[in-house]
Amino acid sequence: MKKNLETRCCPECGESLIGRSDKIYCTDHCRNQHNNKLNSDQNNMMRTINNILRKNRRLLDQLLVDEISKSTKQNLAELGLNFNYYTQTTIDRKGIVYYSCYDIAYALVERDMVLIMHRNSMIERIGHKKTATNLALVS
Ligand SMILES: [Zn+2]
Repeated sequence: MKKNLETRCCPECGESLIGRSDKIYCTDHCRNQHNNKLNSDQNNMMRTINNILRKNRRLLDQLLVDEISKSTKQNLAELGLNFNYYTQTTIDRKGIVYYSCYDIAYALVERDMVLIMHRNSMIERIGHKKTATNLALVS
C-alpha cells in the first residue's frame, strides 16, 4: 500500500507536477521565470548595498580635506553615513577599529570624534596590514 501520496507542486505557478519524481517545475517557462525572479531579488539586494557603500564613500571623500580629517559621529550620521556598511575593518594595536569604505577609512576615537583618511594613510599610520575582511557587514 502506498503511503504519503504527496502532491508536488511547481514553485512558480503552483500546478501539480506530473511525471518524473525529480521534476521541479512544470515547464521550462516556469523554471526560467522562477530563476529570473530569484536573480532579480539578489540583484536588487546587491544594488542596494552597493549604493549604500558608494554613498558612504562619497560622504567620507567630501570630508577628507587633509591627510587626516576630523569629524564627529553625529555629523556623519546627519550627513547620512550608514555605519552598518563598510568593506573592511582593520584593528590597530590599541584596539581602535578602522572601517573602510573601499579606499577611505574612518575610525571612531575618543567619544564622538571620527578620523577620516585614505586606506594607505591608515595602513602607514598603524604600521601593519592585518585586516579582517568583512564585506558589507549588516547588523
Ligand atoms: Zn509551473
